[in-house]
Amino acid sequence: MDAITRPIVVPDAPERLHADVVVAGTGTGGGLAAIAAARAGADVLAIEPLPFAGGIGAGGGIHWYYYGVKGGLQEEMDERIRQVMPLFSPPGQIQGFHPDAKKCVLGDMLRESGVRLVSGSMVVAVRASGRCVESAMVTTPAGPRVINAPAWIDATGDGDLAASAGATYSFGRSGDGLFHAYSQSTGMVIAKELKGASVPFMRLVNFDAGYVDPTDCEDLSRARTEGILQYLRDRYTDDDRPTYIAPAIGLRQSRHIDCAYMLTLADLAERRAFADSVGATGAHYDNHATDYEFESDESLFWVWVCRQWSAPIACDIPYRMIIPAALDNVWMACRAAGVTTDAHHSMRMQRDIQRIGEVAGEAAALAVRHGCAAAAVPYAQLRERLVASGAMSPPTKVDDDFGPDSHGVETRTEEDIRGWLAELGRESTIATWHLYRHRERCEAAVAELVASPSPRVSFAAACILAMWRDPRAEERLIAAVIAREDGFEGAEKRPDNSNRVVPFWLVAISMLRRCGTPRCLGALLQTACESGLVLNVRTAIAITCRALAERTVLEASDRATAEEIIRALGRDPVRNAVGVIQRHILDVPTFKPYGPRYVGSVAEDSTWQFDLCIAHARAALGMPMDARCDAYRADPRAIVRRVFATVAGGEPGSLCATKLLSASGRARSAIASSTP
Ligand SMILES: Cc1cc2nc3c(=O)[nH]c(=O)nc-3n(C[C@H](O)[C@H](O)[C@H](O)COP(=O)(O)OP(=O)(O)OC[C@H]3O[C@@H](n4cnc5c(N)ncnc54)[C@H](O)[C@@H]3O)c2cc1C
Repeated sequence: MDAITRPIVVPDAPERLHADVVVAGTGTGGGLAAIAAARAGADVLAIEPLPFAGGIGAGGGIHWYYYGVKGGLQEEMDERIRQVMPLFSPPGQIQGFHPDAKKCVLGDMLRESGVRLVSGSMVVAVRASGRCVESAMVTTPAGPRVINAPAWIDATGDGDLAASAGATYSFGRSGDGLFHAYSQSTGMVIAKELKGASVPFMRLVNFDAGYVDPTDCEDLSRARTEGILQYLRDRYTDDDRPTYIAPAIGLRQSRHIDCAYMLTLADLAERRAFADSVGATGAHYDNHATDYEFESDESLFWVWVCRQWSAPIACDIPYRMIIPAALDNVWMACRAAGVTTDAHHSMRMQRDIQRIGEVAGEAAALAVRHGCAAAAVPYAQLRERLVASGAMSPPTKVDDDFGPDSHGVETRTEEDIRGWLAELGRESTIATWHLYRHRERCEAAVAELVASPSPRVSFAAACILAMWRDPRAEERLIAAVIAREDGFEGAEKRPDNSNRVVPFWLVAISMLRRCGTPRCLGALLQTACESGLVLNVRTAIAITCRALAERTVLEASDRATAEEIIRALGRDPVRNAVGVIQRHILDVPTFKPYGPRYVGSVAEDSTWQFDLCIAHARAALGMPMDARCDAYRADPRAIVRRVFATVAGGEPGSLCATKLLSASGRARSAIASSTP
């Protein structure tokens, strides 16, 4: 081997660049942010690691829209994409827009607007003084560069810039630290009938490939390889085969930077209007998880109790949700903006992110012109610009060839307590949610309904009480557990035809974590002692035990029962822990996971989720730790290493380089501090 004659030298004084507005990332949000800022008169420098703009839509293989609200600068881009599409695909022969058409159009719009695009480069470190970012270190093929600017737009998808500047953020869901599943998409050609002839049609393949820490380089590489390897199958035909593998991994979720306002599921469910509205968002609670015992209590209630997973939800986008709470000159124009994990499942679609991209670009340019902080940008002027571009247009129902649009979403807004009470007990109804949210007006009526002769009404009422942490719910919930009450009637959805419907008894086990007292331990023990329990029944019981132990001072006999539950849960091997990641929670044999037939075999070993819940419960009860926890600290999956580090009290594993080498952001680890 030749001797290394040119050691790597990091220059003491890297070349400096200046701009009015720096946009980190020219993906879904950043591309339009840069164009909007430049058109508004700012000198814009855009930094992008990929060789093209467009992010997930252009490089992640997700070339169609799923809800979100149309309007604004994105319409101009989409119209231009329509015009160049015939160069890439005959009309009617591709799902949504062509990803290469988007690359071309965005590149052209960036160039026309005068944005200085530096591709092949990446923001790796940020210098902040107090609440202001002053400069950023960028790696480029020509070596490191330092950029100075008065205004910064974080469109990295992961919130790299804001986190590096010291903004706090949440990181993964509360129960087990997992992010929304990632995808490694492809284009697939299938035969389609068009005007009486069979023609090739390109559709996107978007399946859940597993879980990854989006900020860990080695974990990202592991995940990407696993995603790609799913395509090594021999079941293709000429009329049904992948054509290309998307160059970028599909990360649905990453950090959520703490912003001046954090959008919530309640905002969306109740169609909230904001005085600082910069547009609208709308979709449904599109969470791909099935194991809701690991989600927040409200999420569990929304899906398992109210059965509202697919219900349309919508609200205004407040300007504050794109301003990091800790920083004065940074705007978030990506999925890392100010949404809670629950709200993220709806407010994350490409149209949403393109909308906040446009807003961030306009606002940053205004801030530079006025010399003011992000929060002091004159809202009237910002709104005027957004009205002019069409971003604030009132929704109108339209057909859209690039995918569905949530214009015309209707949600219940009237506070009709009597009407909601009358709806209680239906298979699926938002009334249950509204009653939960209006305790001051319906507490007595709901409490009375726990004694209703209708088991469904009484169960729904008990779940609402449980959300209020009212112990009057407990008896009804315990009864559901002991009787193995499933609650299904007639032809309604059951676990074997919906992976988000579960029986009452399992819902009850989870709701007891809100309101249970030591009285429920007997029912939990009875269930825990059954042999052959599937993973999610065990994890639900362990999570409830932990909550009880953390909330209550247990008498010695209750503590002994709780310890017996934990031991019983680990007595025999966990069924269904290894398998498709969208496993059915009850291991229903007929359940078909989502995904094209040749990628249906994506599998993960989820035993760690069980061991994590047991470890947390043991810690809460003061029981000794299981030795298996140590092994998880060297797990190849970064998330698993990280969550077990919090259990065992150690530092997160330092085996892997993080994407952001100098990250100084402090994650709020919900795992360390609370049950879901
Ligand atoms: C698998 C999948 C399926 C989806 N399905 C749909 C769908 O059907 N319809 C729909 O409307 N939405 C869908 N979404 C949601 C939507 O596509 C994303 O939420 C949205 O595109 C995210 O946009 P973004 O700008 O935050 O991220 P991205 O588009 O990923 O852009 C981030 C950009 O930042 C760059 N970058 C990263 N780090 C740095 C750094 N340190 N410095 C500089 N640049 C950096 C990246 O290279 C990238 O170009 C899906 C998402 C995924 C992942």
